[in-house]
Amino acid sequence: MRKGILLIISGFAGSGKGTIVKELIRRYDNYALSVSATTRAPRPGEVDGREYFFKTRDEFEKMIAADEFLEHAEYVGNYYGTPRQYVDDMLNKGKDVILEIEMQGAFLVKEKCPEAALMFVMPPSAGEVYNRLKKRGTESEEVIMKRMRRGAEESREIGKYDFLIINDDLGECIGEVHNTVRCAKHAAFRNSDTIDTIIKEFDEFLNNKEEG
Ligand code: 5GP
Repeated sequence: MRKGILLIISGFAGSGKGTIVKELIRRYDNYALSVSATTRAPRPGEVDGREYFFKTRDEFEKMIAADEFLEHAEYVGNYYGTPRQYVDDMLNKGKDVILEIEMQGAFLVKEKCPEAALMFVMPPSAGEVYNRLKKRGTESEEVIMKRMRRGAEESREIGKYDFLIINDDLGECIGEVHNTVRCAKHAAFRNSDTIDTIIKEFDEFLNNKEEG
Protein backbone atom coordinates (compact mmCIF):
# COMPACT_ATOMS: atom_id res chain seq x y z
CA MET A 1 0.00 0.00 0.00
CA ARG A 2 1.18 3.51 -0.80
CA LYS A 3 2.24 5.56 2.19
CA GLY A 4 0.34 8.80 2.78
CA ILE A 5 1.80 12.29 2.49
CA LEU A 6 2.70 14.40 5.51
CA LEU A 7 0.95 17.75 5.05
CA ILE A 8 1.95 20.65 7.24
CA ILE A 9 -0.48 23.56 7.35
CA SER A 10 0.63 26.79 8.99
CA GLY A 11 -0.89 30.22 8.98
CA PHE A 12 -1.25 33.41 10.97
CA ALA A 13 -3.57 33.30 13.92
CA GLY A 14 -7.02 33.87 12.46
CA SER A 15 -6.08 32.57 9.01
CA GLY A 16 -8.95 30.10 9.11
CA LYS A 17 -6.61 27.10 8.92
CA GLY A 18 -8.46 25.34 11.73
CA THR A 19 -11.75 25.52 9.83
CA ILE A 20 -10.07 24.45 6.59
CA VAL A 21 -8.59 21.39 8.27
CA LYS A 22 -11.90 20.41 9.89
CA GLU A 23 -13.66 20.66 6.52
CA LEU A 24 -10.98 18.60 4.74
CA ILE A 25 -11.47 15.81 7.27
CA ARG A 26 -15.25 16.03 6.97
CA ARG A 27 -15.37 16.04 3.16
CA TYR A 28 -12.64 13.61 2.18
CA ASP A 29 -11.61 10.27 3.66
CA ASN A 30 -7.90 10.37 2.77
CA TYR A 31 -6.95 12.70 5.63
CA ALA A 32 -6.09 12.10 9.28
CA LEU A 33 -5.52 15.00 11.67
CA SER A 34 -2.74 14.83 14.22
CA VAL A 35 -3.81 16.16 17.64
CA SER A 36 -1.00 18.12 19.29
CA ALA A 37 -0.08 18.45 22.93
CA THR A 38 0.13 21.95 24.43
CA THR A 39 0.68 23.72 27.74
CA ARG A 40 -1.72 26.55 26.86
CA ALA A 41 -5.04 26.64 28.72
CA PRO A 42 -8.12 25.32 26.87
CA ARG A 43 -10.31 27.97 25.23
CA PRO A 44 -14.05 27.81 25.92
CA GLY A 45 -15.48 24.83 24.04
CA GLU A 46 -12.14 23.06 23.54
CA VAL A 47 -12.06 19.42 24.62
CA ASP A 48 -9.00 17.52 25.85
CA GLY A 49 -7.96 14.98 23.21
CA ARG A 50 -9.98 16.70 20.45
CA GLU A 51 -8.42 20.15 19.86
CA TYR A 52 -5.31 19.36 21.92
CA PHE A 53 -3.96 17.12 24.63
CA PHE A 54 -3.72 19.74 27.39
CA LYS A 55 -0.60 19.23 29.54
CA THR A 56 1.22 20.95 32.39
CA ARG A 57 4.76 22.17 31.65
CA ASP A 58 6.08 19.34 33.78
CA GLU A 59 4.12 16.68 31.86
CA PHE A 60 5.18 18.21 28.55
CA GLU A 61 8.85 18.23 29.52
CA LYS A 62 8.62 14.55 30.50
CA MET A 63 7.21 13.78 27.04
CA ILE A 64 10.14 15.68 25.46
CA ALA A 65 12.60 13.66 27.58
CA ALA A 66 10.91 10.39 26.51
CA ASP A 67 11.34 11.43 22.82
CA GLU A 68 7.60 11.22 22.23
CA PHE A 69 7.48 14.21 19.85
CA LEU A 70 8.14 14.37 16.12
CA GLU A 71 8.72 18.09 16.78
CA HIS A 72 7.92 20.61 19.46
CA ALA A 73 8.25 24.39 19.72
CA GLU A 74 7.55 27.27 22.04
CA TYR A 75 5.01 29.77 20.67
CA VAL A 76 3.98 32.98 22.47
CA GLY A 77 4.93 31.52 25.89
CA ASN A 78 3.56 27.98 25.56
CA TYR A 79 4.85 24.62 24.40
CA TYR A 80 3.22 22.87 21.43
CA GLY A 81 4.26 19.46 20.11
CA THR A 82 3.29 16.69 17.66
CA PRO A 83 3.11 13.18 19.17
CA ARG A 84 5.13 10.94 16.86
CA GLN A 85 3.35 7.57 17.15
CA TYR A 86 -0.03 8.56 15.67
CA VAL A 87 1.62 10.25 12.68
CA ASP A 88 3.70 7.15 11.85
CA ASP A 89 0.73 4.79 12.25
CA MET A 90 -1.55 6.84 9.99
CA LEU A 91 1.09 7.36 7.27
CA ASN A 92 1.66 3.59 7.23
CA LYS A 93 -2.08 3.08 6.82
CA GLY A 94 -1.92 5.24 3.69
CA LYS A 95 -3.58 8.31 5.22
CA ASP A 96 -2.50 11.86 4.37
CA VAL A 97 -1.63 13.20 7.79
CA ILE A 98 -2.25 16.88 8.51
CA LEU A 99 -0.15 18.72 11.08
CA GLU A 100 -1.56 22.15 11.85
CA ILE A 101 1.57 23.66 13.37
CA GLU A 102 3.52 26.92 13.47
CA MET A 103 6.68 27.71 11.51
CA GLN A 104 9.52 26.55 13.74
CA GLY A 105 7.85 23.15 14.01
CA ALA A 106 7.15 23.08 10.27
CA PHE A 107 10.83 23.63 9.43
CA LEU A 108 11.93 21.02 11.99
CA VAL A 109 9.62 18.42 10.41
CA LYS A 110 10.83 19.33 6.89
CA GLU A 111 14.43 18.73 8.02
CA LYS A 112 13.54 15.30 9.43
CA CYS A 113 11.09 14.35 6.66
CA PRO A 114 12.02 16.10 3.38
CA GLU A 115 8.97 14.53 1.73
CA ALA A 116 6.62 16.59 3.91
CA ALA A 117 4.62 19.24 1.99
CA LEU A 118 4.61 22.69 3.61
CA MET A 119 1.56 24.84 3.03
CA PHE A 120 0.99 28.37 4.36
CA VAL A 121 -2.54 29.78 4.58
CA MET A 122 -3.24 33.47 5.08
CA PRO A 123 -6.02 36.03 4.91
CA PRO A 124 -5.83 38.59 2.08
CA SER A 125 -4.14 41.28 4.25
CA ALA A 126 -2.44 41.96 7.63
CA GLY A 127 -5.38 44.17 8.65
CA GLU A 128 -7.66 41.20 8.08
CA VAL A 129 -5.51 39.05 10.42
CA TYR A 130 -6.17 41.61 13.19
CA ASN A 131 -9.89 41.86 12.37
CA ARG A 132 -10.34 38.09 12.52
CA LEU A 133 -8.51 37.83 15.85
CA LYS A 134 -10.66 40.63 17.29
CA LYS A 135 -13.82 38.98 15.99
CA ARG A 136 -12.88 35.62 17.52
CA GLY A 137 -12.87 37.43 20.87
CA THR A 138 -10.95 34.71 22.74
CA GLU A 139 -7.76 36.72 23.40
CA SER A 140 -6.96 39.99 25.16
CA GLU A 141 -5.69 42.97 23.13
CA GLU A 142 -2.23 42.27 24.60
CA VAL A 143 -2.16 38.65 23.34
CA ILE A 144 -3.59 39.74 19.98
CA MET A 145 -0.75 42.27 19.63
CA LYS A 146 1.80 39.55 20.54
CA ARG A 147 0.35 37.38 17.81
CA MET A 148 0.44 40.31 15.32
CA ARG A 149 4.12 40.90 16.12
CA ARG A 150 4.78 37.20 15.66
CA GLY A 151 2.89 37.42 12.36
CA ALA A 152 5.21 40.22 11.18
CA GLU A 153 8.22 37.97 11.88
CA GLU A 154 6.60 34.95 10.27
CA SER A 155 5.69 36.83 7.09
CA ARG A 156 9.43 37.02 6.29
CA GLU A 157 9.71 33.22 6.27
CA ILE A 158 6.69 32.32 4.11
CA GLY A 159 8.96 31.98 1.06
CA LYS A 160 10.41 28.79 2.56
CA TYR A 161 7.03 27.01 2.24
CA ASP A 162 6.17 24.88 -0.78
CA PHE A 163 2.66 26.32 -1.23
CA LEU A 164 0.85 29.55 -0.36
CA ILE A 165 -2.95 29.67 -0.23
CA ILE A 166 -4.94 32.88 0.31
CA ASN A 167 -8.09 32.32 2.33
CA ASP A 168 -10.47 34.93 0.97
CA ASP A 169 -13.46 32.72 0.21
CA LEU A 170 -13.49 29.70 2.56
CA GLY A 171 -15.31 27.31 0.22
CA GLU A 172 -12.90 28.02 -2.64
CA CYS A 173 -9.92 27.82 -0.36
CA ILE A 174 -10.77 24.29 0.86
CA GLY A 175 -11.00 23.07 -2.75
CA GLU A 176 -7.65 24.71 -3.55
CA VAL A 177 -5.95 23.07 -0.58
CA HIS A 178 -7.32 19.64 -1.53
CA ASN A 179 -6.26 20.01 -5.19
CA THR A 180 -2.82 21.18 -4.16
CA VAL A 181 -2.38 18.08 -1.98
CA ARG A 182 -3.43 15.85 -4.87
CA CYS A 183 -0.82 17.49 -7.12
CA ALA A 184 1.88 17.38 -4.43
CA LYS A 185 1.42 13.61 -4.14
CA HIS A 186 2.49 13.26 -7.78
CA ALA A 187 5.83 15.05 -7.33
CA ALA A 188 8.44 12.62 -8.64
CA PHE A 189 10.62 12.94 -5.52
CA ARG A 190 7.72 11.73 -3.37
CA ASN A 191 7.41 8.59 -5.48
CA SER A 192 10.87 7.10 -5.17
CA ASP A 193 9.43 3.64 -4.36
CA THR A 194 7.49 3.59 -7.65
CA ILE A 195 10.58 4.77 -9.52
CA ASP A 196 12.75 2.07 -7.91
CA THR A 197 10.15 -0.54 -8.87
CA ILE A 198 10.03 0.49 -12.55
CA ILE A 199 13.83 0.52 -12.74
CA LYS A 200 13.90 -3.07 -11.42
CA GLU A 201 11.11 -4.13 -13.77
CA PHE A 202 12.99 -2.80 -16.81
CA ASP A 203 16.19 -4.51 -15.74
CA GLU A 204 14.41 -7.81 -15.13
CA PHE A 205 12.57 -7.57 -18.44
CA LEU A 206 15.78 -6.91 -20.38
CA ASN A 207 17.70 -9.63 -18.51
CA ASN A 208 14.99 -12.19 -19.28
CA LYS A 209 14.82 -11.21 -22.96
CA GLU A 210 18.57 -11.25 -23.39
CA GLU A 211 18.94 -14.57 -21.59
CA GLY A 212 16.01 -16.08 -23.46
P1 5GP B 1 -3.36 28.14 19.22
O1 5GP B 1 -2.90 28.47 20.60
O2 5GP B 1 -3.95 29.33 18.52
O3 5GP B 1 -4.26 26.93 19.17
O4 5GP B 1 -2.07 27.73 18.38
C1 5GP B 1 -0.95 28.60 18.30
C2 5GP B 1 -0.01 28.14 17.21
O5 5GP B 1 0.57 26.88 17.55
C3 5GP B 1 -0.72 27.93 15.87
O6 5GP B 1 0.08 28.52 14.86
C4 5GP B 1 -0.77 26.43 15.73
O7 5GP B 1 -0.74 26.03 14.38
C5 5GP B 1 0.53 26.04 16.42
N1 5GP B 1 0.58 24.63 16.85
C6 5GP B 1 -0.45 23.83 17.23
N2 5GP B 1 0.00 22.60 17.52
C7 5GP B 1 1.34 22.60 17.29
C8 5GP B 1 2.38 21.60 17.40
O8 5GP B 1 2.16 20.43 17.72
N3 5GP B 1 3.63 22.00 17.09
C9 5GP B 1 3.93 23.26 16.70
N4 5GP B 1 5.21 23.54 16.40
N5 5GP B 1 2.98 24.22 16.59
C10 5GP B 1 1.71 23.90 16.88
